[in-house]
Amino acid sequence: MTSRSLHTDLPSYTVRVSSRAKCVRLSLSVEDGLEVVVPTNYDRLKIPEIVQQKRDWIARNQSKLDEREAFLQSQSPHELPNIINLRSLGEEWKIEYHPTASKSGTISVRENKEHLQLVLDGNIADVKSCKTLLKQWLMRKAEKHLFSWLRKVSIRANLPYRTTAVRSQKTLWGSCSRDRNISLNYKLLFLEANVVEYVLLHELCHTVHMNHSAKFWKLVSKFESNYKALDKSLNHAWQIIPAWIDF
Ligand SMILES: [Zn+2]
Repeated sequence: MTSRSLHTDLPSYTVRVSSRAKCVRLSLSVEDGLEVVVPTNYDRLKIPEIVQQKRDWIARNQSKLDEREAFLQSQSPHELPNIINLRSLGEEWKIEYHPTASKSGTISVRENKEHLQLVLDGNIADVKSCKTLLKQWLMRKAEKHLFSWLRKVSIRANLPYRTTAVRSQKTLWGSCSRDRNISLNYKLLFLEANVVEYVLLHELCHTVHMNHSAKFWKLVSKFESNYKALDKSLNHAWQIIPAWIDF
């Protein structure tokens, strides 16, 4: 087989020359597709071979992107949710919207705990305000549940911390500062309970080791032997965060 026929069914890609690039790098995104980033004066004849070698990586990441795209399409992100599934708490809330005329154009939120029902009354045509209110409700819920949950895990593992805060982060599930202050992402509420528990434990272990060293993982494994799989699952976990939240 000639090298030429080997490359006939390569995925399509574009080449970008970057003066900052030190070596060849592949990048895959919805916006730009597959990009091969090369340093200046790079021998372009080598590129097909590199793309060929990275085929598995490309296929794997392409299917992840497709999955995320399909998920976003199915979610109607610009619309308001009818259901909020808080897996970590085993609660599936039904959301109802009641348009009522009010002079001030405000919206109010009513919670029916017994039926896990949330009712928004008022100017519900104002989608942005409705989303803001739903997020505020989620933040309060996160404070209520994640704070006490963290306290329990902290006591059980005998890993004390100083303060907790609930945040809305785009890429972090949690963080721990040098002063042992722990921040938790309210989006954790959407994940399975065992994954949340792992995140809490992970941040608590950072109160002892402020890095991801072997010592750190050893400490984590003392409390959670399945930590590798749980940690890996967090990379995909953002896929189940409802799209309306970030739009
Ligand atoms: Zn960490």
